[in-house]
Amino acid sequence: MSKYDVAVIGSGPGGYVAAIRCAQLGMKTAIIEKYNTLGGTCLNVGCIPSKALLDSSHHYEDAVKHFEEHGIEIPGEVKVNFKKMIERKQGVVDQTTKGIDFLMGKNKIDVYHGLGSFKDATHIEIAGEKKETIEAAHTIIATGSKPSTLPFITIDKERIITSTEALSLTEIPKHMIVIGGGVIGLELGQVYRRLGAEVSVVEYMDRIIPTMDGAQSKELTKVMKKQGVKFYVSHKVSAVERKGKEVTVTATNKKDQEVTFTGDYCLVSVGRRPYTDGLKLENAGVKANERGQIEVNDHLQTNVSNIYAIGDVIRGAMLAHKAEEEGVLVAETLAGQKPHIDYNLIPGVVYTWPEVASVGKTEEQLKEAGIAYKSGQFPMRALGRSRASGDTDGFVKILSDATTDEVLGVHMVGARVADLITEAVTAMEFRASAEDIARMSHAHPTYAEAVKEAALAATEDRPLHI
Ligand code: FAD
Ligand code: NAD
Repeated sequence: MSKYDVAVIGSGPGGYVAAIRCAQLGMKTAIIEKYNTLGGTCLNVGCIPSKALLDSSHHYEDAVKHFEEHGIEIPGEVKVNFKKMIERKQGVVDQTTKGIDFLMGKNKIDVYHGLGSFKDATHIEIAGEKKETIEAAHTIIATGSKPSTLPFITIDKERIITSTEALSLTEIPKHMIVIGGGVIGLELGQVYRRLGAEVSVVEYMDRIIPTMDGAQSKELTKVMKKQGVKFYVSHKVSAVERKGKEVTVTATNKKDQEVTFTGDYCLVSVGRRPYTDGLKLENAGVKANERGQIEVNDHLQTNVSNIYAIGDVIRGAMLAHKAEEEGVLVAETLAGQKPHIDYNLIPGVVYTWPEVASVGKTEEQLKEAGIAYKSGQFPMRALGRSRASGDTDGFVKILSDATTDEVLGVHMVGARVADLITEAVTAMEFRASAEDIARMSHAHPTYAEAVKEAALAATEDRPLHI
C-alpha cells in the first residue's frame, strides 16, 4: 500500500494548490480526483469556461454594436458560429486542465483518478479503473460544491439547467429565464443576451447581487437593463414546469400577484451546496453541519485532528482564490508555519461588462455595525481613458473610517475593475488611509485614476476631475 504524508481529495483550485504547496514543503503528496480531468469546478465548468464565453460574446457584441462608432465598418452581417464558440471554450478548458497535469508532474505529486472515500481516518479507498487503498498521515478534503436547486424544481439538464449545462448548450436560447440574480445568473445571462436571447432574471431579494454594495446593484441593473436584460426582483418562484420545448416559471411578486414566464430554457442559479457525497465521512468520524459544510477551526482542521478541509466544502465565500489561500494555509500549517488569511480582504468579482468588484465592508454592513465612515465616489465617465475606449459606465467608491481615514471597503463597477480591485486589496492589507491612496501617483490615462479620485473624494471631498 502506498503511504503519503498528505492526501488531497479533490483537484479544484483548493485541492491542487494545497497539493503543490505541500510538495514544495517536502511532503510526499497524493491527489485524488473522481473525474478524468484535474482542475475541479473552476477549470472545467466554472471560472474558466464562463470567462471564455463572456469574452467571446463580448467580442461579438462589440462587433455588432460598437465597432461602427469607432469608424470600423463590416460589410455584410456579423454572425455567431455558436458551435465554434463552444468548441473554443472547450479548447481553453482543455489547455488549462492539461496545465494542472503538468504542475502535478513537475511537483512529483501522485495523481489518482477515482472516487475517494474514507476507510478510516488514515486510509482512503480510491474507486477508479481499479480499486486501491492508500495510507495518509494527513488528509485535506477539497471536494468543492455542486449547484443547488429549489425543492420543487427538477433539473432535467436539457431545458431546466444549471451553469454546467449552460456552458455547453448546442443552440442559443430564444428566451432564457434565469432564477437567481447572483453571480452565475448575471454572468451567463449576459452571455446569452449578447448572443441574441431574451433574458429574464427572476430574483427573490429586492435587488440583484444582494450581498454586494447597494450602489453596485443599482448601477449593474441600470446597465444590464440598457443591454436588454429584464429584471423581476422581489419575486418568489413557486413552480417550474416543462412541456416539450417550453418551460414555464411561476412566481409571486411583492403585491402577492402570480406572474408566469414562458421560455425555452430555465437556468437555475440559486447558489451551490457543499459536496461530500460518497466520501464516507462517517468512517473517519468527520463532522459536517446542517448545511452540509464540513466544520473546521481557524486552522481549517476538522474535528478529527489529522484531517483538514478547504474551499467550497467549508464555510465562507465560494470563490476559487479563497479556496487557493486555504490550500496554502493548510500546507504551511502542516509544515509547522503560522500562516494567516484575512477573510475580510478576499475580493469578490462579477465578470459582466462592466465588471463589478469589491473588497472589505459594504456601506450596508458599516451602517449595520454602527461604524462612522466617509464615502468618496468617482464616475468612470469622467476619465479620459473611459471616453477613449467607450467604457463610461460605472464608478469607484471608497469607504474610509470617519476618524482615522483607514480604508474599510472599496466597491467598483467598470471596465477592468476585476484587475483594479487588487490595488484596493493591497492598500487595505497595509492598512492604508484613503489619503495614502490619494497621494500615490496613478498613471494617466488609466481606469485606475478613478481609484485615486475616489480616495481624494473620501479624504477631503476634493476630487480633481469632477
Ligand atoms: P471544486 O473546484 O469544486 O473542486 C472539487 C473537486 O473535487 C472536483 O473536481 C470534484 O470532482 C472532486 N471530488 C469531489 N468529491 C470527490 C471524491 N469523493 N473523490 C475524488 N474527487 C472528488 N470563482 C471565482 O473565484 N471566480 C470565478 O470567476 C468563478 N466563476 C465561476 C463560474 C461558475 C459557472 C461556477 C459554477 C463557479 C465559479 N466560481 C468562480 C466558483 C469556483 O469555481 C469555486 O469556488 C471553486 O472551484 C472551489 O474550489 P474547490 O477546490 O473548493 O472545489
Ligand atoms: P449566488 O449566491 O451568487 O446567487 C444566488 C441568487 O439566487 C441570490 O441573489 C439569491 O438571492 C437568489 N435566490 C435564492 N433563492 C431564490 C429563489 N427561490 N428564487 C429566486 N432567487 C433566489 O449563487 P450563484 O450565482 O448560483 O453562484 C454560486 C456560487 O458560485 C457563488 O457562491 C459564487 O461565489 C460562485 N461563483 C463565483 C463567480 C465569480 O467569482 N465571478 C462566478 C460564478 C459563480
